Amino acid sequence: MVFNHLYVLTNMPIQRFGSMLVSKGEFEHYMALLKNAYQPQNLESVMCRTLLSVDWRGYVYDCDFNQMLGLPLRLNGQPRVHLRQLTSGDLDGNPIVVKDHCYGCTAGQGSSCGGALS
Ligand code: SF4
Repeated sequence: MVFNHLYVLTNMPIQRFGSMLVSKGEFEHYMALLKNAYQPQNLESVMCRTLLSVDWRGYVYDCDFNQMLGLPLRLNGQPRVHLRQLTSGDLDGNPIVVKDHCYGCTAGQGSSCGGALS
């Protein structure tokens, strides 16, 4: 086995890592760290701008992180959208569902599916 690429992702404060932070009383500090490291240029590269995440039933999410949090993609007020409902152009200009965990993507050296951002 040969490793020829290294992808660096920020630990997202969700699920197991988020629970660990909460149990250690470090969640607020970690969130403040991410917010203070906000880099607006990373907004251009976050994966939710170019990719979708699809669960095993075919429902779509703006990204894998949102899928893990149970935050479905929203389109025209629908609570969730199935892949078969989407047609070309449906998502042009469609708002992305964002929450505080998104600071994990926009922080300096934040996350994307392609590794660390700016
Ligand atoms: S966590 Fe937020 S910013 Fe990051 S890819 Fe998902 S929706 Fe976009």
